[in-house]
Amino acid sequence: MSLFNFGPTSPLTDSEEQFTPRPRHKRTFTGFTPRELKSIDAVIPLEHRNLWKKYAIGEFQTKEEFQGEFVRHVETTLARSLYNCDELAAYQAASQAIRDRLIVAWNKTQQKHTLRDPKRIYYLSLEFLMGRAMDNAMLNLNVKQLTGDGVSGFGFRLEDLIEKEPDAALGNGGLGRLAACFIDSLSTLNYPGWGYGLRYQYGIFKQKIIDGYQVEQPDYWLTFDNAWEIPRTEIAIDVMFYGYTRKFTDDEGKVHRIWEGGDLVQAVPYDFPVPGYGTENVNNLRLWSSKPNREFDFAKFNEGAYDQSVAEQQQAETISAVLYPNDNFYLGKELRLKQQYFWVAASLSDIVRRFKKSRRPWIEFSDQIAIQLNDTHPTLAVVELQRILVDREGLDWDEAWEIVTSTFGYTNHTVLPEALEKWQVDLIGNLLPRHLEIIYDINLYFLQDVEKRFPGDHDLLSRVSIIEESNPRQVRMAYLAIIGSHKVNGVAELHSELIKTTIFKDFVKIYNEDKFTNVTNGITPRRWLHQANPKLSKLIAEKLGGYDFLNNLGLLKGLEKYANDKTFHKEWLEIKRANKARLAALIKSQSGVEVDTNALFDIQVKRIHEYKRQQMNIFSVIYRYLQLKAASPEERKKFQKRVSIFGGKSAPGYYMAKTIIKLINAVGAVVNNDAEIGDLLKVVFIEDYNVSKAEIITPASDISHHISTAGTEASGTSNMKFVLNGGLIIGTVDGANIEITREIGENNIFLFGHLAEDVEDLRHSHRFGHTELNPDLQKVFDVIESGLFGDANIYSNLLNSIGNHGSDYYLVSDDFASFLNAQQQVDKAYADQDAWAQKSITAVANMGFFSSDRAINEYAENIWQIEPVPLDN
Ligand SMILES: *Cc1c(COP(=O)(O)O)cnc(C)c1O
Repeated sequence: MSLFNFGPTSPLTDSEEQFTPRPRHKRTFTGFTPRELKSIDAVIPLEHRNLWKKYAIGEFQTKEEFQGEFVRHVETTLARSLYNCDELAAYQAASQAIRDRLIVAWNKTQQKHTLRDPKRIYYLSLEFLMGRAMDNAMLNLNVKQLTGDGVSGFGFRLEDLIEKEPDAALGNGGLGRLAACFIDSLSTLNYPGWGYGLRYQYGIFKQKIIDGYQVEQPDYWLTFDNAWEIPRTEIAIDVMFYGYTRKFTDDEGKVHRIWEGGDLVQAVPYDFPVPGYGTENVNNLRLWSSKPNREFDFAKFNEGAYDQSVAEQQQAETISAVLYPNDNFYLGKELRLKQQYFWVAASLSDIVRRFKKSRRPWIEFSDQIAIQLNDTHPTLAVVELQRILVDREGLDWDEAWEIVTSTFGYTNHTVLPEALEKWQVDLIGNLLPRHLEIIYDINLYFLQDVEKRFPGDHDLLSRVSIIEESNPRQVRMAYLAIIGSHKVNGVAELHSELIKTTIFKDFVKIYNEDKFTNVTNGITPRRWLHQANPKLSKLIAEKLGGYDFLNNLGLLKGLEKYANDKTFHKEWLEIKRANKARLAALIKSQSGVEVDTNALFDIQVKRIHEYKRQQMNIFSVIYRYLQLKAASPEERKKFQKRVSIFGGKSAPGYYMAKTIIKLINAVGAVVNNDAEIGDLLKVVFIEDYNVSKAEIITPASDISHHISTAGTEASGTSNMKFVLNGGLIIGTVDGANIEITREIGENNIFLFGHLAEDVEDLRHSHRFGHTELNPDLQKVFDVIESGLFGDANIYSNLLNSIGNHGSDYYLVSDDFASFLNAQQQVDKAYADQDAWAQKSITAVANMGFFSSDRAINEYAENIWQIEPVPLDN
């Protein structure tokens, strides 16, 4: 650690900044160059440096040292004592001790990056679905064992303390969880990479099931001090909204436009250290919180409108107050647009400030900085950077645009039309008047270019225009993102092909085809194997001779030679059984339903969405129930016992998804209380699916459902989590299922259903032909309509969207026969447990490709052009 001292007026908390050369070793935190850094140590007198070294923060290495830290935090940080240290306090003290270690490593990492000044990647995501931090931090710092021993010395169980931490649930589903896995990999692989997001006070709502219905409750996750964040109140940034633009001509006759007269809101950063596994590297996740601007409106105050003035100020805090709870669905609310600009403006201001500190010429901007847009949510960053460069820094338009387009990359996550962002022109023009002008200019120059290359093709011009000439007119954010980026990627092979042939077809023609690429998603094996499934991780480590596979998931291939080893099968299945018992306990405690761990655990947990087809799953469960009921007691014994487990949140305003939740619970209420059926079939809905629950659910599956209508699920990542934990998949030929099949072999997955290429024709035939409902599905509809699951009217819209001349847009009926057939194949395969174990082991052995480390390395090489920063030795 480098040494410095600082005056009382310059709080040095942003350690990336702390080497400012100033005469007589006085330092502030801005304005030095990496070259100057070298001389800094020389400026600090040796005695100061030695003193600092002497008192450098000790990192606990033993159980006893941890216990010392623990007691200190209980007594000082928490102001508690031996007599009132409950589990929550114990969790807080333990997390403070671990936080101290993280911060020391974080400081070292940021200092190293400042010194070496490598190219950095900034990952802009409106969602980071992090889950809990403590377990992950302990595992990554390799202190879990000693922490557990340490707290047990005081009579606590580490598992209980871990449970005290609320999830950081700042995301809806897959997109936010992907961002979390990616920053884990960035740290683990020693890339200099930061995440930028929003620090919502309310994460995704908590789901309660009352009378079978979803009820939303606010998730105020910051009730207790959060040890995992570091407030940086001294780095607040002003962000402007509204106002107007003004044109003026400078002395040299050059015309400028500036934006002024708007309202200011302050962005305050909170830093979340992101530890890597098996490395000292700790990157940063910087989340912005909105605060009232420091400047109080004194005019209003003096006019006696004190309360109004205060109320307006408090409005500012609502910007980062709450996460919008829609997954794959666009909602054109002004507050959401405010969130997007607030976060983008603060992040870019931070990034540009850091760049300017290096005093490099602007031309080197994209040699030093790559910015990834996680979906179109941060697309205003394209416009904001152009504005900074042209309006503030005085660059020419073309020069600035070259910098902008070589800096950004854009990741597309969906082809669903209802998810594509299109902001009303007037909304943007009012909130961000200068940005709208710049969008028009970007569009003008772009269309002029297209016109030159495809003269006379007016249809093309209107198709690719950023401005949709609808009523009202709209800004197509995806087009802006494509035009403002040098690379556009989809998140699995099929999806990346689909965007090229459907929604972005014209852009493939306009740009070189290699602007479009694919990076298949991945998951971090640290959280999704080692942390979630410690027993399996340990067994694998025993076989492979250590935990290297956690950094190099391809090593799992070494398990293949045990795929036919019967003793290994026993160990493998025993662990699955233990994980099923863990889930059974969760189910019992939540819903009171007792499930048999000998039964096949059949799981579908993910956001509830018509395209993900939970409705098709529950229909097949009803079908199974009807078959069981129709069977004689003798025949019944031949049925495979199953537990059908569902979980997931519906967007609060998504009526159809909420109906599906109700149906699942209603079916459970009937089936689970049918004495004739007993353990042959149970149906459970797990309340409030989140990352921590996923860590218990994923290792417990025998089979999981990934059954989206072909072409609708861009990738999916829970499919990867389940297979990595030894569960098999029943799934459609969609998203990453396709690549999973390629890797693990088609004998080890249960695929069914129509292909993406058939979907359009099928939909067409629904619209214009007579399509009969699948007869087995008709039977299911008949019993629902008979009132077996409560008032049939509750479900009529759901059923009518499929049968009764509904469009069956998601092809539930078309795929139903094939789905039931695949279910039969599952039952048959499961009956032979050795054959099943062999499939499971083979599948796990071939999951190396789906590590988020692989994904991040591909981004680094093909899109970001960044290199790892080697560890200091
Ligand atoms: C992985 C994960 C998801 C994504 O699930 P998909 O099935 O891929 O949509 C959603 N929510 C949570 C909590 C997750 O952990």
